[in-house]
Amino acid sequence: MKDCIFCKIVKGELPSHKLYEDSEALAFLDITPANLGHALVIPKKHFKNILETPEDIMAHMMKIVKKISHGLEALNPDGININMNNKEAAGQVVFHSHIHVIPRFKSDGFELWHGKSEYKEGEKDKVVEKIIRAL
Ligand code: 5GP
Ligand code: ZN
Repeated sequence: MKDCIFCKIVKGELPSHKLYEDSEALAFLDITPANLGHALVIPKKHFKNILETPEDIMAHMMKIVKKISHGLEALNPDGININMNNKEAAGQVVFHSHIHVIPRFKSDGFELWHGKSEYKEGEKDKVVEKIIRAL
């Protein structure tokens, strides 16, 4: 992908602080970290999001997420968030599949989303049926 920032990082056309690399994937520091050590794990091939990324590549990325999580322990975080934004409505800004690995600290002040939807009577069954049919 010609104008993709992360493809350029893969090709070495843009600099990055690499944490891990193999033939399929790369992990590097996020340029505007939520906390120091905030890392991104990406496939070397260009896929837009989780829906387009093949299952085996996603599985491989998760292995690296696990590896990086252990590495982040060196920074003594109180916790770690694993997050993947898929499509604009979910906050995706760079449309090259990536997983955020974010060290968290009790004092960092970040919050997660709070549940605000509710199921009406019988709605859970309908939702489950729809999802299962699409698996
Ligand atoms: P998204 O919102 O798409 O899930 O996250 C994209 C992330 O990529 C952001 O956290 C942003 O800081 C990071 N990012 C954007 N451009 C660059 C870059 O050129 N280098 C690095 N290392 N990270 C970037
Ligand atoms: Zn790309």
